Amino acid sequence: MKQHNFSAGPCILPEDVLKKASEAVIDFNNDDLSLLEISHRSKPFVAVMENARSLVLELLDLENKGYKTLFLHGGASTQFLNIAYNILNKKAAYLNTGTWSVKAIKEAKLFGEVVEVASSKDKNFSYIPKGYEIPSDIDFFHCTSNNTIFGTQMKSFPEVEAPLICDMSSDIFSRRLDFSKFDLIYAGAQKNMGPAGVTLVVIKEDILGKVERQIPSMLNYQVHLSKDSMFNTPPVFPTYVSMLTLEWLKDLGGIDFIEKVNAKKADLLYTEIDRNPLFKGFSAKEDRSIMNATFNLVDENLKDTFDKMWKLARINGLNGHRSVGGYRASMYNALPLHSVQALVDVMKELERKA
Ligand SMILES: *Cc1c(COP(=O)(O)O)cnc(C)c1O
Repeated sequence: MKQHNFSAGPCILPEDVLKKASEAVIDFNNDDLSLLEISHRSKPFVAVMENARSLVLELLDLENKGYKTLFLHGGASTQFLNIAYNILNKKAAYLNTGTWSVKAIKEAKLFGEVVEVASSKDKNFSYIPKGYEIPSDIDFFHCTSNNTIFGTQMKSFPEVEAPLICDMSSDIFSRRLDFSKFDLIYAGAQKNMGPAGVTLVVIKEDILGKVERQIPSMLNYQVHLSKDSMFNTPPVFPTYVSMLTLEWLKDLGGIDFIEKVNAKKADLLYTEIDRNPLFKGFSAKEDRSIMNATFNLVDENLKDTFDKMWKLARINGLNGHRSVGGYRASMYNALPLHSVQALVDVMKELERKA
């Protein structure tokens, strides 16, 4: 049996997807050729790209609303600079909720003035700032919907006149939002959509074409859009596996279905974290992430015992990020409820033993 995989990213993918992906590596479309050895301009691959792009809009309920999808190289980290390159003329506002926001802000500063509207750095990013003001004379507002490292998640988003841009790398397709509130959504695939190597960008086209600077082709959204996400050789394999994951999600019942499953998983674990006197949660209760639960042992002396116990239970990827310490259980879409139950069982067993 497969290990219970709580890894933060790259992370768990549905078994069915892994099986189909491995078959395509050997023989794609019953053509006696591998997906990895055919042209990206061939009909079968163009169909994959088109299917992946349209599944994204369908699942996010963004069809016929002026949005286009891109599957790009370079990870979410390249989007930190791409966004500023393409959309920042003079001034942008950023909400600082952790490591990934900090990195996005750093890149944006290369292109214009950046206003940090609020930050939760004072408490090691364990909460989401609220009640901040956003200046009106900005080119866009940027936020990070889910803070993978700290285990916090935005439950609501500010109303802004300017374009709303969001890094949804670690919670895209996990919960129902009104995605049409956003003008640009981006996500590295390796958290909740597919393998590393491809980045999803969903753009409302009318926000583009407003900066004065020259933009290099590979970093220019309009160039990629004009070529239907095939300006150069796209990341064919990760795009294909992402397409399979999106199909898997659609067949299950889409975001509305998976959101209920994700809520059950998070509820099961957080209830145990709060009940069990040996553990304490890291992030503020009202801002807890449904995807990444961060928690610590109250008594660090139990660390070796606990670590041995969960490893013995075939649990993988539970160590917290070095900037938080403790533990982090990432419960992405593909993680089954019984894996969370396995972790909760180990936590209860530790309580009995200690
Ligand atoms: C992992 C992560 C990133 C970085 O993604 P890369 O694809 O490695 O560049 C950015 N933002 C968030 C929220 C993440 O979780």
